[in-house]
Amino acid sequence: MKTATTLFQLEQARQDVTAGGKSLGFVPTMGCLHEGHLSLVRRARQENACVAVSIFVNPAQFGPGEDFETYPRNLERDLDLLWAEGVDLVFTPTPDVLYPEGFATSIHVGGVAEQGEGASRPGHFDGVALVVTKLFNLIRPEHAYFGQKDAQQCAVIKQFVSDLNIPVQVVVVPTSREADGLARSSRNLRLTSEDRARAPALYCVLQEAARLFRNGERNPEILETTMRQTLQEAGLTRIDYTSILTPETFIPPDGKIPEKALALLAVRLGEVRLIDNIVLE
Ligand code: AMP
Repeated sequence: MKTATTLFQLEQARQDVTAGGKSLGFVPTMGCLHEGHLSLVRRARQENACVAVSIFVNPAQFGPGEDFETYPRNLERDLDLLWAEGVDLVFTPTPDVLYPEGFATSIHVGGVAEQGEGASRPGHFDGVALVVTKLFNLIRPEHAYFGQKDAQQCAVIKQFVSDLNIPVQVVVVPTSREADGLARSSRNLRLTSEDRARAPALYCVLQEAARLFRNGERNPEILETTMRQTLQEAGLTRIDYTSILTPETFIPPDGKIPEKALALLAVRLGEVRLIDNIVLE
């Protein structure tokens, strides 16, 4: 497994691992890896001759007062896990490598980036679009792998990949969950034991919305209100949003939900903000 920190090392390593025109699959991450990340890596491993992973906590996608400083980091363990998965190349830049002095460019994504996480974390998806575009330009993969756990992020990436004609195929991998239903997340490590015990309520609330939908409930406001109330009953009162959005557009359905929608939520437990979603169909 080759590791690269500088752009020069990355280009050398990329040439080495793809020599002879081998197909390259890419998994961008912020590190502190768990089974969810590894499910993306395994999928990339299956579908490509070689696999690259990046580990970079991207300052551009964190707003003021968010958890950039306290975001969990564990590079040595991450490298061991990736080595065990047979990853070919790991890129671990520092912020000055991707954003050197004088850096002056931004990307703004509208449309799918506006509701949900976009409304709750202004500028977040612009920061994601910026770093992922740079990583795509540097790594030039055939396929790139993202988790359904961050459903809106997947839609945002597909949007700018299409708008900017970036030659990469975006693959979305299902959400990996703990046995009690909690979506795996690096941030789960920062939950207190009391909050960890309460956290599975997020997925229970989403499953309840899916059950109501299956039983014929098509009113988005009723579903949003029920999710909010059920969270509150479970003692989760710091709710950023409970939303019903249309999957491809990420805008609220106009009146009754048609065949399909996404239920999404964001909740704060102590210092930690968790998100999750489920498809209603
Ligand atoms: P992160 O390190 O949180 O930026 O995540 C890197 C990639 O892993 C993103 O595409 C995430 O959507 C994906 N990911 C994170 N958690 C999970 C999970 N529980 N299941 C599937 N994919 C995940």
